[in-house]
Amino acid sequence: MICSRRVVLPDGIRPAAIVVRDGVIAKIADPKRSASAETLDFEDSVVMPGIVDAHVHINEPGRTEWEGFETATMAAAAGGVTTLIEMPLNSIPATTTLDAFRQKLASTQDKLFVDVGFWGGVVPGNSAESSRLHEHGVFGFKCFLVPSGVAEFEAVTESDLRQALPELARLGAVLLAHAELPGPIDEATCKVSNKDPRSYPTWLRSRPAAAEDQAIELLIRLSQEYKTRVHIVHLSSAAAISMIRAAKGSGAKLTVETCPHYLTIAAEEIPDGATHFKCAPPIREAANRERLWEALGDGTIDFVATDHSPAPPQMKCTDTGDYLRAWGGIASLQLSLPLIWSSAHKRGFGISDAARWLCREPARFAGLSRKGEIAVGRDADLIVWNPEQSFQVQPEKMFFRHTLTPYSGRTLFGVVQKTFLHGEEIYSSGDFPSGRRGRVLLRGPA
Ligand SMILES: [Zn+2]
Repeated sequence: MICSRRVVLPDGIRPAAIVVRDGVIAKIADPKRSASAETLDFEDSVVMPGIVDAHVHINEPGRTEWEGFETATMAAAAGGVTTLIEMPLNSIPATTTLDAFRQKLASTQDKLFVDVGFWGGVVPGNSAESSRLHEHGVFGFKCFLVPSGVAEFEAVTESDLRQALPELARLGAVLLAHAELPGPIDEATCKVSNKDPRSYPTWLRSRPAAAEDQAIELLIRLSQEYKTRVHIVHLSSAAAISMIRAAKGSGAKLTVETCPHYLTIAAEEIPDGATHFKCAPPIREAANRERLWEALGDGTIDFVATDHSPAPPQMKCTDTGDYLRAWGGIASLQLSLPLIWSSAHKRGFGISDAARWLCREPARFAGLSRKGEIAVGRDADLIVWNPEQSFQVQPEKMFFRHTLTPYSGRTLFGVVQKTFLHGEEIYSSGDFPSGRRGRVLLRGPA
């Protein structure tokens, strides 16, 4: 039994005792009446559902030197992430065929510290594979509307989407889209061709908000036309919020995530040559960031996912600091809770808000009915953390493979003390006491 004075339950935060049987929450009890010798009492620490991170790039097999299942899931456990859903690209092969999915599943063997599910991919011409991937348990399908950066995962055009969407509608599967269109980017890139590539504004101007806004407009239109669920990954442009709000208001099957970097960093603060801040779409100005917070607060943005995507330092062009040549992607899997909590608290949000954005909503989005809340019948995936305690981010304490991160040196509030997966203590203050307890998650019948 696990108890504390601050347990994050679906209807609020209060003292409670969580009775766990066979890895599942069997009962939520009054802690005063149910204490026993086996009770783990965490007193004033917060006990919250394990975090569900729906957007993580692990890159194994094929590019394991960028990130692999072992290091990524250790980082997850240390950050209180008990479930993650892995993206279909940057691994070789990309998860766009059933054969590739089988290779990916095989590569997870004996490596998982937390539970891991998978997204499949929609690329030009692979519609026939989507029903097979769906049948074998991927949770949905990711696509890119601009070049993804890797040759194995080609971008789709509107006409490719018009082929893929009827099939996804038939399957009842969600399409996750990297929403930027090439037109505005190509135009903007021409305009910055004589600018300093080490200057962050050069990168920012080359990826204008219009590229996102136009892509989102197209995706909303297609979602309504084909009655397909569409999910916008990593929203950065606040200009798209009013359009998203209107589409949701009119019943569109639309969900949206944003990431810790868009919520906690502003373009104005990013130094020249600091390519570890590079991602696409880019981190925009402080005023844009505040509008993202408002949209997260009112539910227009559904949840937060990290888009954890590390690469070896040489690919980040750390020597030249060239923003236009560096690989884009930010490493943050281990830090989502303290990043979001530190910034949310400053803006007047509470612990329940953080639990909604990091646990409940991503679980609901992916259809993970056993995750994301502390309730009877759910998996006993729990984290124990101290929201009042602060720490300084030190790269050497990160468990992901390449520790270059824009958060290095930042002081954050929210220390993860322990992580439980299926009731087993998988992380405790820097240690992993029960080893690799993670499971492969496959989508269950709808
Ligand atoms: Zn991504």
